[in-house]
Amino acid sequence: MLKKVGAKEERVKAPTVFLFDIDGTLLLSGGAGRRSFEAAFVQVCGRRDACAHFSFGGMTDRAIARTGLTAIGRDADAATIDALIEAYLVLLHDAVAKSPVFTVMPNAHATVEALRTNADFAVGLGTGNVRRGANVKLARAELAHLFDFGGFGCDYEDRAELLRKGAERGAAKLGVNAAEARVVVIGDTPRDVAAALAIGAECIGVGTGGVAPSELLALGAVAAFASLAEDGALDALVG
Ligand SMILES: [Mg+2]
Repeated sequence: MLKKVGAKEERVKAPTVFLFDIDGTLLLSGGAGRRSFEAAFVQVCGRRDACAHFSFGGMTDRAIARTGLTAIGRDADAATIDALIEAYLVLLHDAVAKSPVFTVMPNAHATVEALRTNADFAVGLGTGNVRRGANVKLARAELAHLFDFGGFGCDYEDRAELLRKGAERGAAKLGVNAAEARVVVIGDTPRDVAAALAIGAECIGVGTGGVAPSELLALGAVAAFASLAEDGALDALVG
């Protein structure tokens, strides 16, 4: 944050909440999430094609379940969505453990660890994964121990609402109201940008999920980088 003091600009400390997306931002599960959802639809609905025609990028788990159910003409009631997500979580353990191309993004550990050293920062997750699924993926990436709060796909189906919840939890850790904190969402899809803007947060985009940084910037990200390892990425996060 910059504050005008006389003729000079002086940097002042600002309580900041960071909300990291998981898939495409901190790691890539190598399709383990998609394979698990597809297998869950076979178990629960007897259909292998429910998710064949849409990308999961930036979607919350409950929105994936709802979209798949709608695609095969089934009622997307809460009980069926819950059943799909339970089946998905059982399958995900094995799928993540066995995924041959599971990838941790460059500088993911270093970035999170650097931010965590600042007492004015709360470093959490802003993810469409339900919390248990997030933990499975982060555990294989050896990142789980670095995150003790977030907004998750089990909090809300709507991505903006789960980010708002994550921002509230992070601000509470810093002893401030969410409105008093700078909130920075780090994500890889247009949905991350849109949800961040919807709650008045900054979005910093990364190109590691397949969407070009220039596209994320055009949609309203305040900065965007090829990856967390690009020069300037950590500075942009710190602000
Ligand atoms: Mg993502």
